Amino acid sequence: MKIRLASTLQSDSIVDGEGIRTVVWTQGCPHDCPFCHNPQTHDFKGGFLEDIEEIKEELRELKGQDGITLSGGDPMAQPLQCLEIAKEAHKLGMNVWCYSGYRFEEIMENKNMKKLLEEVDVLVDGRFLIEEKSLDIYYRGSKNQRIIDVKKSLEEGKVVEIEKFKGTKIFKPMYNKEKDIFI
Ligand code: SF4
Repeated sequence: MKIRLASTLQSDSIVDGEGIRTVVWTQGCPHDCPFCHNPQTHDFKGGFLEDIEEIKEELRELKGQDGITLSGGDPMAQPLQCLEIAKEAHKLGMNVWCYSGYRFEEIMENKNMKKLLEEVDVLVDGRFLIEEKSLDIYYRGSKNQRIIDVKKSLEEGKVVEIEKFKGTKIFKPMYNKEKDIFI
C-alpha cells in the first residue's frame, strides 16, 4: 500500500504535540482553510508516493521519540494508509497524535476515518480559523480546534478534551537525555 506524502519523515519535533515526535506530513487536504500555513500540502496530486512498508522501516530505526504525529495535509484523507502507520507506531511503544480539519463528530460518521481514529491517542480537530488564531495556545493554530483524548471520548460517547492543554501556554523546559540538552 502506498501513501501520498508532502515530505520525508521529520523527527525531533517539539511543536507537533507533546514530547519529542516524528511527524508524518501527508499530502492532500480538502478543507482549504483561508491563511492555512501549509498550502503546498493541499493538492491531492502533489508530493510523492511512498510505500507504507518503507515508512514502517523508518519508524523502527527511530531513536528517542515519544510518538508520531500524523499531520499534513489531512491524514483523514488517507485513513487506511495512516492506520497502518499508526498501528506500527503503537507496536513500537510510541503514542499517536493526529491533526485533522474534520471535527471528531464528522470523523465518527465515516467508516474508514473512524477506523483510523480508533488507532489515535490524541486528535487535534477542526479547521484553522484566522479569526480564532492564537500564538498562546498549546499545539494548535486557532482556539476553535480541540485537543481530544480519543480513548476517553470513544468510551464516554462524547468529546473529552485534554484539560492541561485547554488554557494558555506555560513554558516548561524539557530535558532530552540522548542529546543532553534542555529544549
Ligand atoms: S485543515 Fe489544516 S492543512 Fe487543511 S487547509 Fe485547513 S489548516 Fe490547512
